[in-house]
Order: sequence, then C-alpha cells, then structure tokens
Amino acid sequence: MTIDEAPRDVLRGGPRELLRWVATGAAVSRADLSRLSGLSPSTVSQRVEALISQGLLEETGAGRSRGGRRPRQLAVPTGGAVVGAIDLGAHHARVGTLDLSGRVVQARTLPVRIEDGPEAVLGALLAEVTTLVGGDSAASADGSAADALRGVGIGIPGPVQHSTGRIVSPSRMPGWNGFDVAAFCAGRVDVPVIVDNDANLMALGAHRTAHSELDHAVYIKAGTGIGSGVISSGRLHRGAQGSAGDISHCRVVADPAPPCTCGNAGCLEAVASGAALVTALRGQGVQVSDLTGVIRLIDDGDRQATALARQAGRAVGEILAVVVNFFNPQVVAIGGRLADCEPLLASMRATLYERCLPLATQTLLIERVAAGQDVGITGAAHLVIDHVVAAA
Ligand SMILES: [Zn+2]
Repeated sequence: MTIDEAPRDVLRGGPRELLRWVATGAAVSRADLSRLSGLSPSTVSQRVEALISQGLLEETGAGRSRGGRRPRQLAVPTGGAVVGAIDLGAHHARVGTLDLSGRVVQARTLPVRIEDGPEAVLGALLAEVTTLVGGDSAASADGSAADALRGVGIGIPGPVQHSTGRIVSPSRMPGWNGFDVAAFCAGRVDVPVIVDNDANLMALGAHRTAHSELDHAVYIKAGTGIGSGVISSGRLHRGAQGSAGDISHCRVVADPAPPCTCGNAGCLEAVASGAALVTALRGQGVQVSDLTGVIRLIDDGDRQATALARQAGRAVGEILAVVVNFFNPQVVAIGGRLADCEPLLASMRATLYERCLPLATQTLLIERVAAGQDVGITGAAHLVIDHVVAAA
C-alpha cells in the first residue's frame, strides 16, 4: 500500500498533530487545540469532528468552566483502538500493539527462523498480533478485538518496493525475494497492512520519539545487516522506489575486499555489518557463533574483535561522510545491536569529522538512537497511525 505523507507544513496543526496533542495531554479541549495550532476554532472543530467520527478521539464529560458553558473534554479512547506492529530481524522479531498516540501497550520478542520462509514466519507473527489485540480488548470495556485493530505495520530487514510492498533481492533471506508481503497479510487480517524496510521504520520511530523538532536526520541501523533511513524536511524520504538510504552495497576501502552477497566485493555490508564481523572473526580462527558472541568479545577487549570493530566504524564513517556532505543533516544517530559497540562508534565519529566539510559538522549531532528495542515497532505504528488519520 502506498502512503503519501503530507509535506511538513501541511502537518502543522494537521489531524495527526491534533491527535498527538490530545494523546500527550498538551490539549484537553478544542480551545487548547486552537491555541496550540494557531488555527481558527471552526477549522479545529471540523478536524476534531472528523477524528471523533473515526473513533480516534472521544469527548468525555465536561471540563472546568472559565465562566459560561462548561467545555467538553477531548481524549484518545482508552482500551479501544490499537495498531499492530512487527519489527522482523534476522533471528528475532519484536511484536507489539500500540495505542493511537504511538505508545506501546504490549510488546514481546519472539525467536524467528527467517529461512523458514515468508508464509511460515509472517503467518506466526500475524497470529501473535491477533493474540495481543485479543488480550488488549478483553481488558477493555467492550472487548471487541475485531474493532480494536486499526492496521498493522511491518518492518522487513531487506529492500521493500514501496509502491507494492514486495521484497526485492534481500540478503540472507532465502525464499523471500519477490514476496508480496502486503497481499499475503491482507488475506489474514481485515485492516490496512503497511510494509517498509526496517531501517526506515527505525528512522521514523526515532525521529518521532526524540527528534521531531529537527527537519533533517539520518539514522544508521547496524545489526546483522546494515542500512539507513533518511528524514528530509520532516518526512521519511523513500525516493522513487523505496530504496533511498540503502547504503549496504556502497563500496568502501578494504584490503582484501571481502566478497558480498550481491556478487560484488568490498560492499559496506561485507565489511561492517554484524554478519561480516562474524565471518571475518571465524576466518581468523576465532570460535564465534553469532553477533552476540562478537559483541561479547569486543566488550571483553579481545584484540582481533576490537580491530575489526574499528575497521567497521571507519567504513561506516566513510560512507556516512558522503551522506553528510551531500545531505547536510542536523543529526546522525546510530541504532541496532552494534550501536553500543564503543570502538566502532569512536572510529565512525573520527572518520566522519575528518572527511566532512566544517560547515556540515559544525552543529551536527552524532548520537546513539535512544528509543531502545521498541523503536522499530514505534515507527511501524506511526506509519499506520498516519494512514488511519489521513483516511479520517
Ligand atoms: Zn554488496
């Protein structure tokens, strides 16, 4: 499903922002919304009515009177509407339900065998979403699970063609190439399903959570794979097909240049991803089973693992310097399991400063993504909420 986000200036005081102000308690009445948005009372009323008719807002009792008729209070319905979110990784998936303000209601991590193929993996994860929604609505007043779920957002650790929701030539996902995720899911849940790349969803989740006041941001996701998501003028920038931000097959300086799954050699993914670190360490005769083992070695100050982490950080910094020079973001944030790896972060930062124009780095923030393990499902939920609000 294609979701066209409105330009940022249209979003100021737009339905999504009105909803967020009520959800966060910044506004409890139409008058508050009018004051915060600068919109006329009649425009606010029109938008509020639309949100109420969609069940996204409700009016509760009467607020405190400041003389005259007591205003009715606005609230986001509790125990009611939720969106489902799935953040699929190479070995685990984070699955959750979130309310319409983007707050996590329930979330759990499930082990995943990506090689079992898309039908088995996505079928099980969608069933988990349905179970969570059933639990949420059983605790609510009306207990109607079917009505409670408004949509499902899914993050995939590979390239996703945005217009169709199809996966295109992913690394390390045998059996997933060309799979139509949206169509498969549409046959299983009766709500909109929106599919995107996991780095895009991390970017959206991190931006909405920590940097919503910044217009230009780049988020690197460094886990088993490596990718990035770009926020431009306050919106997720996907490019023509949805591949914007995919830095995994950019060439970096590496000698020898390790072969990549794409058929080339010396790609960023083949040098700096978690999977590349596991392969390189094994090649040096170190017994390590997965990325967790690599991170443990780095934390313990293992010489070989630390050297590889520094090399990976330089490679990420090299590509990121091109991105920063070209795009001039206000913040660059790194998330994923390698984000806590200090030697990688230090050499990435040093390379970035060395290779960037002073004007590009003068006020550039370089940070870790702060939102933790729920950042992906938060981004997935916001994708769906934007769609639900736009439809309202
Ligand atoms: Zn490659």
